Amino acid sequence: KEKRIATPSMTKHYLNQFGFHFKKSLGQNFLVDVNVLENISKKSGVTKETGVVEIGPGMGALTEQLAIDADRVLAFEIDQRLDPILQETLADYDNVKVVFEDILSADIAPTLTDYFNEGQPLKLVANLPYYVTTPIIMKVLMNGLPFESLTVMIQKEVADRMSAKPNTKSYGSLSLAVQYYTEASVLFIVPKTVFMPQPNVDSAILHLAFRETPPVDVIDEDYFFELIKASFQQRRKTLRNNLSRHFKDMLSKEMIESRASSIDLDLTRRAESLTMEEFARLANVLYEAQQ
Ligand code: SAM
Repeated sequence: KEKRIATPSMTKHYLNQFGFHFKKSLGQNFLVDVNVLENISKKSGVTKETGVVEIGPGMGALTEQLAIDADRVLAFEIDQRLDPILQETLADYDNVKVVFEDILSADIAPTLTDYFNEGQPLKLVANLPYYVTTPIIMKVLMNGLPFESLTVMIQKEVADRMSAKPNTKSYGSLSLAVQYYTEASVLFIVPKTVFMPQPNVDSAILHLAFRETPPVDVIDEDYFFELIKASFQQRRKTLRNNLSRHFKDMLSKEMIESRASSIDLDLTRRAESLTMEEFARLANVLYEAQQ
């Protein structure tokens, strides 16, 4: 196909033809640069054997690239107004299905089973709507969906937080939650100029490769994540301060102190200096103390 959807002139053409107006509230910033799309698709590791799930196809810019590179594509789009546009822009591709549903309320697993071959390698690739980036990613991570990886365009600042290492400004409970399920890395930065309309913030492509098993052993995952959240409650304060405040009705200060020293953990440290392994050990001893 000579005329790709993702050029400024074709995008304008479809906007005019269908009288479409962007909805800012739905995070509608469409990609108008084919090089960026090729790069996203290539770096995501999609091949002709891959089944791809896309969230928010918009006018089909990324969907078209994925239809070219993958075996088949299943896309979830919240905005029904895009239905006639997508029918035209993707008319040449018989390996694409668009479902008009809010991804946050969609029952994803059975839709995957219906559409993809049994055992087919699956990846999620998307230019996500920025207003719901974190809820969408956490839903996919926590629902145990059978994806090998997620490759998503999101705000650079959020990509940095999700992939951050200890002792950096961006490191926090979100980094630990995401990295418990996946290995996270920023693949490349994308300038505002490749979008229509242009967003206010820079974007990055974040790659999340699912782990086969969690990187740490925790007795109780909910407790582990609760402890992490509590530890970062006030970033500038010590662990001792944050933990004694959060657990005051469950554990005495002395108990927290003695459990921490049993694993050689200094409670005058700040949460941002702890590795996931250290959080896991601390969660396990405190959890046992509470039983
Ligand atoms: N993939 C297109 C592109 O790259 O040009 C459009 C990306 S645009 C940043 C985000 C898309 O997600 C929009 O089409 C928007 O309507 C859609 N969207 C927003 N919220 C959604 C939700 N909760 N579920 C599914 N799609 C959603």
